[in-house]
Amino acid sequence: MAKNAIVMDKLTKDFESVRALDNLSLEVPEGIVFGFLGPNGAGKTTTIRLMMGLLEPTSGHVEVLGYKAQNESHRVRAQAGALLEHCGIYEQMSAEDNLEFYGRAFRMPVAERRLRIQELLTHLGLWERRKDSAGSWSRGMKQKLALARALLHRPRLLLLDEPTAGLDVRAAVAIREDLESLAAHEHVTIFLTTHNMTDTERLCQQVAIIRDGSLVAHGTPHELQAMVGSPRVEITGRGFTKAAIELLSAHPNVDGVIRQNNHLAIDLVAGTDVAALVSCLVDAGVHVEEVRRGQPGMEEVFLALTGGKDD
Ligand code: ATP
Repeated sequence: MAKNAIVMDKLTKDFESVRALDNLSLEVPEGIVFGFLGPNGAGKTTTIRLMMGLLEPTSGHVEVLGYKAQNESHRVRAQAGALLEHCGIYEQMSAEDNLEFYGRAFRMPVAERRLRIQELLTHLGLWERRKDSAGSWSRGMKQKLALARALLHRPRLLLLDEPTAGLDVRAAVAIREDLESLAAHEHVTIFLTTHNMTDTERLCQQVAIIRDGSLVAHGTPHELQAMVGSPRVEITGRGFTKAAIELLSAHPNVDGVIRQNNHLAIDLVAGTDVAALVSCLVDAGVHVEEVRRGQPGMEEVFLALTGGKDD
């Protein structure tokens, strides 16, 4: 059985009158990309700060890479890289000096450190600007520098708070591909918070959703999709007459039909034979052009499981 990189056990954190985390228990297996989702203020950043030992839990505990985050945080930080909102970038220092500083703090040998800094800055498209003070950089460039910092000492675990926030589309895709490759080829465990459902769908093998500090769902994206919606089929074609749609709606395996011009979205009873439905439409005179099976997207899943809009 796979080992766990993170084990949270009844983790609770109060800030004066606010309960930011409420009895959260969760296990994150090694070597996967784990998405930690929740509306604003749900407790995601607090969870990462607890894992890095930057906060003390009110009760419960969390183990990271086998170490207790509370009193072995130096060991956690030696083996985990974190990207937090106020990301520890020194604005007066150049990008290169920022990474030099952290490389020394991690006691990386000089040659390895220089090589790694060049590799990361080049890869992120920042090498030419390495002498600029980080404070003069755009938000997205600072975000990339913070990510380089988190990756510098080749950590076994990455804790990333919204890694693609503020990045342009090309940079976000590049970071997503990097994270995917780190998990797939270097067995790095990646725990990330995000409001980006594309990241969630494309990257995460497992997803947990929290709301008001409590866990509301945990599973593979596919399992969460199945929790929320029935299987669905989308049909594009011509000749969707009222009679054809009535016939389809009355079918015992159909839960609901939505029509938009030449497009039908049909909610199905699980295990339905789609071919039978298509022939029912063809018999009713519909010219079917395309049939696609589908599941509710992660955005729909998120909204359903958190009971409202994510603003
Ligand atoms: P977002 O998606 O907006 O970043 P989040 O899920 O990361 O939100 P947290 O930052 O963990 O949410 O905050 C959870 C709750 O704890 C919020 O109600 C927040 O106001 C509160 N909180 C967090 N840090 C502190 C603090 N240092 N002092 C007081 N309250 C805090």
